[in-house]
Parts: sequence; C-alpha cells; structure tokens
Amino acid sequence: MRLPEQEENRILLERKHAEFTFDKVIQFFRQTISAFPDRRIGTNTSYSIEDAALGAFSVFFTQSPSFLAFQSAMQQTKGKNNAQSLFGLTQIPCTNHIKSLMDEVHPSYVTPVFKYLFDGLEKSGHLDGFRSYDNNLLVAFDGTQYFASNTIHCDNCSRKHHKNGTVTYSHSVVTPVIVAPENNKVIALQPEFITPQDGHDKQDCENAAAKRWIDQYAAEYQPFGITVLGDDLYCKQPICKKLLDQELDFILVCKPDSHKTLYQWLDELDAMQTIETVVEKRWTGKTHEIDTYRFANKLPLRDSENAIDVNWCELTTTLPDGKIVYKNAFATNFEVSKSNVKQIVKDGRARWKVENENNNVLKNRGYNIEHNFGHGNKHLSSLLLTFNLLAFLFHTVLELMDEKYSLVRAELPTRKTFFDDVRALTRYMYFPSWEAMLTFMMRGLEIEYVDTS
Ligand SMILES: [Zn+2]
Repeated sequence: MRLPEQEENRILLERKHAEFTFDKVIQFFRQTISAFPDRRIGTNTSYSIEDAALGAFSVFFTQSPSFLAFQSAMQQTKGKNNAQSLFGLTQIPCTNHIKSLMDEVHPSYVTPVFKYLFDGLEKSGHLDGFRSYDNNLLVAFDGTQYFASNTIHCDNCSRKHHKNGTVTYSHSVVTPVIVAPENNKVIALQPEFITPQDGHDKQDCENAAAKRWIDQYAAEYQPFGITVLGDDLYCKQPICKKLLDQELDFILVCKPDSHKTLYQWLDELDAMQTIETVVEKRWTGKTHEIDTYRFANKLPLRDSENAIDVNWCELTTTLPDGKIVYKNAFATNFEVSKSNVKQIVKDGRARWKVENENNNVLKNRGYNIEHNFGHGNKHLSSLLLTFNLLAFLFHTVLELMDEKYSLVRAELPTRKTFFDDVRALTRYMYFPSWEAMLTFMMRGLEIEYVDTS
C-alpha cells in the first residue's frame, strides 16, 4: 500500500514537473507558429514567420517599441543580441517585414498557447487559489474596443456608417479571463474577435462572439468546473441555454429593465412576502454597512413558453442612514439558499476584474505599441492584440511560477519600474538567458536567494 506521505510527494513532484520555465513557453510559442501552413507569405522571404512572430511578441513582452531596433544595433557592435538569446530569434526582422508577414496569420494560429498555459497552471496547482463557489473557476466575459478610426481600416474592421456620410472603423474583442474575488491576478483564455463573419450580412456583435467562444472552447474547459460571469448583456436565453447545454454554470448580472417578466414574478412573490432575505451588518473600519441579500428560485428568464428557469439573488448595501451605496442583482443556475447567497453574489461581483485587471491594463500597456506596427489589411490588428494579451498572461504565469521573477517584481515598487529596467538593461547589456538577466537584477537589488531546485 502506498503511504499517504509518498502519495503527497508524488503529487508535489508531478506539480513541479508541470511548471513552466521562460524558455519552455517560448519554445512552445515557436512550435505553434511554425504550424502555419503557407510558408511563402509576405514580400520578403528571407525572414522566417517564426522570427516575425517572436519578434512582435518580444516587443509586447518587453513593453519596448524599440526593442528590436536596439537588438539590431547590439548585433552590429557586440556580434550577439538579446532577441536571439532570450526569444530565440535567428534573424531580427524590421517592422515592415513583421507587418507584411504577420498580416497573413489568423490569430487562431497562436491561440493554442493560451490553453497550453492554462494546462500548465492547472497541473502545477497554481489555479487552486482561483477556485470559488462549488470549487469552480470563474470565467468573466467582457467585450472591449481596441481600435477606432475614421480613415484607417482593413478587411476585418467593423464599420459604422454615420448620417453625414463618414464611417467609423473599429475592432473589438471578447476577452474571457479567469478571476477570483480575493485574487488580483487574472488568467486570460483564448479571445474571440468581434468581426464581420463570412456569409453574414449583419454586423457582428459581442453576444454572437461570446456564443462562438462557447461553441468552440466550452468543451475544453468544462471538465475543470467553470462558472461564467457576465454583465446584463449576457443574461439572455440563447446564451444561458448554450451554457447549460455545455454544462457550464453561470452568474450573470440581471437588471429589471431588460428582464421585465422575471421582475414581475418577483413583484408578485414580494407581495406575498415569499422572497427570502439575509441581512448582515459589516464594519468597514470606518462605518457600519448593512448588506441585505434577497433571493428566489425558479423564475422564468423571459416571457415565452420555452423560457428557461433561473435563480435570482440581489445585494443592497446601505449606510446606517439608509443611503444605498451598492445594489446589483444576478441570475444563476445555482440553486440559491441562505447558506450560499453571499458567496454567489461575491462571485458575480468578481466580474469587474476582467475590465479592471485585464482590459484596462491592456489599454494602458500595449495598445500604443500596436499602433507602431500600423493596421495591416487582414489579420495584423487582431494578431497583435492576441500577442499583447499573451504577453500580459505570460508575465502573470512567470509571477506565479518563476521564483526569481516574482522576487524581483516584489522588490520593485511598480510594474512600470520593472519594465523600465528591462528596457534599459536589454538595450545596453547582453544576457545569455532570461535566467541570467533575473539573476543580474537580483544581485543589483541585493535579494537573497536560496536555490531549492
Ligand atoms: Zn481593421
């Protein structure tokens, strides 16, 4: 019989084995892009598509628009460079080459990297800290616009025609990310672009993109236990039905204006005084706040014969003088009870993290870098957004798995300082590996480190 301690050691060993190193991820990235079928694309064939992809990625990863230019200069003076040693580039392509090569590559050629990172995080136990109600992972959906112009456009822009004859061209994307109420890290999953679809005259929309995501990826993630979070826009019969068919749970914002039938039922239950209530007083450190939870089960989501039943809960937070400081309601497939209403509302509220911790960070960090590459004619814009998302995710993964990385990040006051340092260091100095650069930073910061591996 296996001893419990041995079993524990076996699991620990397995988990350690599943951990990523910087080089392992870069290698997988390279392999993934090398699966791109047409090798004869672009105007210049002297650069490989892998070099162009890793080159673009390195710019987002280092948050340095001039990274490749600096590395070309270093190659001339030192005969070696960091694009080669850190990111495995064989030759450094210039911006125009990257642009013409990457414009042909549909983002779906790099999306396997998202699942690869998810699997590694899951196997190594780093997603345990994200588990929420019913031991599920919360996946928050949100649509965000990342490009808009009245003049620049490509084949895949969404178009809005104005009365005065002008047109606004834009790109938006639905970004599902794993969030947790008590965790400031987020884990991005594959994005789905809101873009004119083949064979459809109608403009694409966030809802349709979310449905495509569910069709394409739900089965991959369902075995891990998933609760989908979304705003009121997602709280519609077709999406809820799709989620239930795929055996995904959901907690979605449910507003009165867009759910008239459901709220009529609630009014009737209210009149009969059958809506259950939980009241809790909470000390914020400054004042008492009163949380009033109300809930009811089995209500029709819409006014139709085949309407699906959902369960509903609401939180109203008031100050001692009765002033409301927070109010929101959710529809869910979880049966709501006095014992779980608090946790369900807490999970539902974690939705905002997709905007705050993911999409706003992306906007502040990488959008301007995308503009340096220009817009392209086909896929450039969406591919670069995918690189930006991946770069952000990769930093989160390193923070969770790379001990040296997390020590350096913890020592530096802000994210900006870290990127400023990486930019300056990689411009002036050559590092044979990612590890060597982190070791250099740790020495400089006088961080004590005991190698336990
Ligand atoms: Zn476009």
